[in-house]
Amino acid sequence: VKPAPFDYASPDRLEEALELLAERPGAGRALAGGQSLVPLLALRMARLDLLVDLGNITELSGVKRDRDELVIGAMTRQAQIATDPLIGQHAPLLTEATRHIGHFQIRNRGTIGGSLAHADPTAEYPAAALALDAELDVRGRDGARRIPIGELILGPYMTSLRSEELLVSVRIPLRAGRSGHAIEEIARRPGDFALVGGAAHLTLDHRDAIARARVVLFGAGPKALRLPALEDELTGQTEVPDTFAENCRHAAAGLTAPTDAQASGEYRTRVAGPLVSRLVESALRRARNVESDVR
Ligand SMILES: Cc1cc2nc3c(=O)[nH]c(=O)nc-3n(C[C@H](O)[C@H](O)[C@H](O)COP(=O)(O)OP(=O)(O)OC[C@H]3O[C@@H](n4cnc5c(N)ncnc54)[C@H](O)[C@@H]3O)c2cc1C
Repeated sequence: VKPAPFDYASPDRLEEALELLAERPGAGRALAGGQSLVPLLALRMARLDLLVDLGNITELSGVKRDRDELVIGAMTRQAQIATDPLIGQHAPLLTEATRHIGHFQIRNRGTIGGSLAHADPTAEYPAAALALDAELDVRGRDGARRIPIGELILGPYMTSLRSEELLVSVRIPLRAGRSGHAIEEIARRPGDFALVGGAAHLTLDHRDAIARARVVLFGAGPKALRLPALEDELTGQTEVPDTFAENCRHAAAGLTAPTDAQASGEYRTRVAGPLVSRLVESALRRARNVESDVR
């Protein structure tokens, strides 16, 4: 099957791309790495009048530190994220999340902005971004806004981005104190989308108690979800409480995980509880082994 006909533009500047999208409200769409959009177009599951290729807009790519934040351009390729030293130092959860994404050919083309804007409920980056309290810079022709990741992704393949807006960058706060992370997933084969996955990110205070906990599941609901009751149970503790594993099982059992050809919702929630419990243990071990403040 071939895509339905559409106009194609490949601007060099962000302003030009925003102008093109604003001129045809609701009819245009951005092309990033094309790893999700191109198959959808080819299968005619998506149709558009104008494809705005962001590939030549150099200002949308790259990783830098801006005061107390890490700033990752929306067009930064997943392969670069996997090896970038600043990300490795300040957001190693993202480095590790990248290893679970498809295969190297996909990571060579796929971008972080494309993954977040696509909002696949089984994708790793939305979950990692949630665990890291990421925020997004969003631009339209008529202005800019900054939103937390929790307000970007609304549900499966649904975001709060307006049709004339673009994701410009992902901002991750740098943390004082020692942090540990873990991300893991259950998939049929390496490189497949996760049936279900989890991420944990813990930051310790000067007494070695957990000052900040993020516990996230993906593939277990309409989008990546934080588990606030588990986060609250961990906060202030120096050890993982004895009741935690059982509470993880309860928290996962309370979710409405989807059933599809790959796995039943019941299977997904059954494996999600022990998965999250393991991830938290592992994140805590890692946080304790971090030698110095990350700043
Ligand atoms: C075989 C295969 C296996 C895969 N396995 C995984 C996996 O295990 N885990 C995983 O997470 N992903 C997986 N993917 C998807 C891959 O990660 C994609 O790269 C990603 O989902 C989309 O990124 P992209 O840059 O290719 O975006 P595109 O496909 O170009 O775009 C995706 C959507 O985002 C929009 N968009 C892109 N950039 C912007 C922007 N800056 N602002 C606003 N909207 C934007 C587009 O308009 C489109 O709607 C797989 C893909 C394939 C083909």
